[in-house]
Amino acid sequence: MKILLTGGAGYIGSHTVVALIEAGFQPIVLDNFSNSHPAVLERLARIVGQTVPLEHVDVLDTPWLQDVLRRHRPAGVVHFAGDKAVGESVAQPLKYFHNNIGGAVSLLRAMEAMHAETPEDAPTLVFSSSATVYGDPARVPITEDFPRSHTNPYGHSKLVIEDMLYALMAARPAWRVGVLRYFNPVGAHPSGLIGEDPAGIPNNLMPYVAQVAVGQRDHLNVFGNDYPTPDGTGVRDFIHVQDLAAGHVAAIKALLGRGESFTVNLGTGRGHSVLEVVRAFEKASGRAVPYRIAPRRAGDVAQCWADPGLALRLLGWRAKHALDDMCTDAWRWQSGNPNGYRG
Ligand code: NAD
Ligand code: UDP
Repeated sequence: MKILLTGGAGYIGSHTVVALIEAGFQPIVLDNFSNSHPAVLERLARIVGQTVPLEHVDVLDTPWLQDVLRRHRPAGVVHFAGDKAVGESVAQPLKYFHNNIGGAVSLLRAMEAMHAETPEDAPTLVFSSSATVYGDPARVPITEDFPRSHTNPYGHSKLVIEDMLYALMAARPAWRVGVLRYFNPVGAHPSGLIGEDPAGIPNNLMPYVAQVAVGQRDHLNVFGNDYPTPDGTGVRDFIHVQDLAAGHVAAIKALLGRGESFTVNLGTGRGHSVLEVVRAFEKASGRAVPYRIAPRRAGDVAQCWADPGLALRLLGWRAKHALDDMCTDAWRWQSGNPNGYRG
């Protein structure tokens, strides 16, 4: 059974390719490599022992997408493609509205056109949403019925896409849609062959810590130690990318099986502070991670973690990996590939 992965060459997409193959599906990667490297396909082939088909396409190109859908007739589509840097979205909002919202509209229109051609195939979509849609949550843990809001154009784009999907589901009962709200994906495949390869200075904590540990940056700036949390630093629900990948397989299976649409959190249900991550990474790597306390980063919330109970009930999925595994696998990837896919 074929599954099309837009943005499949990216961080989460590439790990999901492996999980889908292990579960017996045939993933097809669709990517324009705007934030990934074609070398990921060679690494994937080494892990799975087969060539993963690639469509070098921009999701904004609706006719081309339609051609891809017509040729492959995938049983489902996972829509990862999009831009994800919060700071950049504040500086360049139109880039985010165009690529993220425009990309989703383009994909949905191509899928709708395909459904008109082959009405026997129910359009089946998994969408990469984010815990950012909860804005500054009133309390933790966060359940899916919490009010949604946005604090930057990236988050706004995710919220708009969710709303588009809800409107579409109301208008077209044949559609089967799984909205997955990821918490903080970290770690890498245990082979050390694929992982997160951010361009330039990492925005996110774990890749930054990894670059400090490997000696590429001299210290971490800890953004604030005066939050109302046990050690004063921000607390997040870090989830191993392998668990997240498994969540996509569970989502696809549920949509193709029971056929009901859903929106679920993908998190562990546990929060870890910035300083806990630093200590866990030092332990996993055997390297020091020097840090300095810096001012709070604008827009950050104090603490954010999921109630993952709904994903367990609906999908039979729960995260299995602890923070130590996340750091061990992130370190294996970072130390084996200090320059990411660029060799
Ligand atoms: P990523 O940047 O590694 O992967 C996204 C992929 O999409 C890249 O390979 C990029 O080249 C591709 N892409 C972007 N625009 C495209 C276009 N117009 N046409 C074709 N391909 C395009 O990011 P990721 O971390 O793997 O995230 C995947 C999805 O999950 C994104 O939608 C992101 O917003 C969402 N998400 C990520 C996180 C996170 O922390 N990584 C958290 C929550 C949600
Ligand atoms: N953080 C930090 N230094 C960094 C990057 C992040 O102290 O260089 C903190 C950040 O303030 C937050 C936590 O680490 O409390 C997670 O940040 P990240 O950007 O990884 O995820 P998000 O903010 O999207 O939850």
